[in-house]
Amino acid sequence: MATQRILDFIATRRPDGPCMVLDLDVVRENYRAFEKALPDSRIFYAVKANPAPEVLKLLADMGSSFDTASVAEIEMALDAGATPSRISFGNTIKKERDIARAYQLGIRLFAVDCEAEVEKVARSAPGSRVFCRVLTDGEGAEWPLSRKFGCVPSMAVGVLRHAYSLGLDAYGVSFHVGSQQTDLSAWDRALGDAEMVFKTLADEGIVLKMVNMGGGFPTRYLKDVPQAEAYGQAIFGYLRKHFGNTLPETIIEPGRGMVGNAGVVKTEVVLISKKSEDDDKRWIYLDIGKFGGLAETMDEAIRYKIVTPRDGDELAPCVLAGPTCDSADVLYEKTPYPLPLSLTIGDEILIEGTGAYTTTYSAVAFNGFEPLRSYVI
Ligand SMILES: *Cc1c(COP(=O)(O)O)cnc(C)c1O
Repeated sequence: MATQRILDFIATRRPDGPCMVLDLDVVRENYRAFEKALPDSRIFYAVKANPAPEVLKLLADMGSSFDTASVAEIEMALDAGATPSRISFGNTIKKERDIARAYQLGIRLFAVDCEAEVEKVARSAPGSRVFCRVLTDGEGAEWPLSRKFGCVPSMAVGVLRHAYSLGLDAYGVSFHVGSQQTDLSAWDRALGDAEMVFKTLADEGIVLKMVNMGGGFPTRYLKDVPQAEAYGQAIFGYLRKHFGNTLPETIIEPGRGMVGNAGVVKTEVVLISKKSEDDDKRWIYLDIGKFGGLAETMDEAIRYKIVTPRDGDELAPCVLAGPTCDSADVLYEKTPYPLPLSLTIGDEILIEGTGAYTTTYSAVAFNGFEPLRSYVI
């Protein structure tokens, strides 16, 4: 949402070129809403959604913990003031030397999803807590995380048993129901899987303690989404359904839900054209596109809310595209975006809900991984 502070900033500072402006007050409110909605869960903010030092510092000061995916993200969380006990190395795909480095930095909580990863952690972070990620179908999510992470629940049992046998603390189960998840029952299915893993291992004397319920909490783009309170109630109900009175420790890892609505992209109309005299759609080219931070428009998955200075005028369908010379740099074409006919070259428009997964995709260090270097010889 474009808050007054964001509008004032843009109006007085007149930043040249596309930019994302993020209001920390909104992040603060989001953090409090999560705390209130799920008071018994620890919050591990997913750093990759927006690793701006100011965001990490605010959240660290408010008591948040952090879900990180690389040594660089661990260092950012430490720099923001989080102690190692408040940091989880939540990527299931880690180099063993990065695990060793994290261990050196004091990190003792690691995600795994197969036996080979357990062995790396056992060697390079002995005695640490590990949780095993189970696959979810991602059904109902606008940005599903697919099959890349996690294993089926029956395999998670073996992975955690292996961790236990290697002297690790087989600590729990994690899942991610898919990002921008608006179907609350996704948590029901995933908690059912977690329950199965807990019970099977308990019968063998391995007592798991924690369920990491991941991220997926949606932010508002064009459609209304359930609010934190509704999530909290539903998830608490599912926890009771599957774990009865002996609720495990729980953590949540909101990324998008924490920062998405706190940011707004300011962009400018560079060109408006048609492809033929009788083209019924106008092409509107902005000074930001897929490579400038709007990568989540891939397959038109995330449909942002666009605010123009001519809202209220008659609308017509437009193809919206970025400024680069790559033909993939088209934001919305399959489903054209209705925008005012009066829109003019040079108009400044706002793209709302862009606080998450924008700066990192355009900048040089998404997830803290260095970009591929180029050598021209
Ligand atoms: C990306 C990620 C998150 C955050 O997901 P959102 O849908 O943005 O809330 C949480 N946990 C893990 C392990 C992730 O990779």
